[in-house]
Amino acid sequence: MTVPLVPVPAPVPDATPVDTLGRPLRDLRISVTDRCNFRCTYCMPKELFGRDYQFLPHDQILTFEEIARVARVFVELGVEKLRITGGEPLVRRDLPDLIAMLAGIERADGTPLDLTLTTNGSALRALAGPLADAGLRRVTVSLDSLDDEVFGAMNGIDFPVARVLDGIDAALEAGLSPVKVNMVVRRGINETSVLPMAAWARDTGVTLRFIEYMDVGHSNGWRLDDVVPAAELVATVHERWPIEPVRAAYRGEVADRWRFLDGAGELGIISSVTRPFCGDCTRARLSAEGQLYTCLFAVAGHDVRAQLRGDPSDEALTSFLAELWRARDDRYSELRSEATSDLPRIEMFAMGG
Ligand code: SAM
Repeated sequence: MTVPLVPVPAPVPDATPVDTLGRPLRDLRISVTDRCNFRCTYCMPKELFGRDYQFLPHDQILTFEEIARVARVFVELGVEKLRITGGEPLVRRDLPDLIAMLAGIERADGTPLDLTLTTNGSALRALAGPLADAGLRRVTVSLDSLDDEVFGAMNGIDFPVARVLDGIDAALEAGLSPVKVNMVVRRGINETSVLPMAAWARDTGVTLRFIEYMDVGHSNGWRLDDVVPAAELVATVHERWPIEPVRAAYRGEVADRWRFLDGAGELGIISSVTRPFCGDCTRARLSAEGQLYTCLFAVAGHDVRAQLRGDPSDEALTSFLAELWRARDDRYSELRSEATSDLPRIEMFAMGG
């Protein structure tokens, strides 16, 4: 008789809440602003987010003290990784001050927090040094093409590739490594950039990750036909430089890892559309205005700002956040279908990408 292999979940320390599907809380993404200096066509198209668009007023976004307090409670509840995002996080004034506050949070077992940030790279030349000095460990930079015409059209403001590459150099010089580079692949828009980006990653040693274009928000008019499936991306790269799969380093790792057989490093593929990974999702998201989302595709958040501004005790805040996680049952990507396409959804820049 063949006994089916059942994956054994990693042991969960007592303080860590587990949701209704057995998933522990491990990662927190913190959005520090809903503003961005880019107008990527698939995220914040300039036709909808022009000069008149009302972004959040300052008094509605969480202060650094509020963010640090929530982050500390999350770390006590078992979070190992904090990722700062937005909007574009580098447009939030004095960001290194927040990084210093977060870097001072200690985990109960003494192991270091994985403190990282996702950025479009446009301000890294100025900020990589101060961020590293404040305690940031590494960065992920978004870059959709090495071709100025393609990249300029996708970022919506003709931002040049060379300045993002210079930002990546600044991050490496400041010791913010490894630098990961995320490329969203859209059918008919930047597919021709896949092999040049892979060649560049092989030469420079950055870790490139292809992301399947997702149906987040409603403003990008997403259609399944616009998605280049992970399997096709693998086949395209494999034909040029043979690759083989690498085991995930830890539960909840978002990207499937692939290794070049000739030893020129690895690349990752984030296939949230064609191969959803809800079963291993250990991630919560805190928006700039203090809404907590337990899924990228959630239709509503939980108002952490109201809790914070009601001046709760640490115990009350801890049990509020732990209970939210225990009640979690989201698995949108596994349920994605015709029936889900019209559900209300929060835009990625508003929730924190
Ligand atoms: N501004 C920062 C940046 O550019 O990395 C952080 C926020 S941005 C929303 C985070 C990531 O989400 C970027 O890599 C972006 O390309 C990706 N993204 C935005 N909309 C997406 C979509 N519909 N599908 C897949 N990825 C998306």
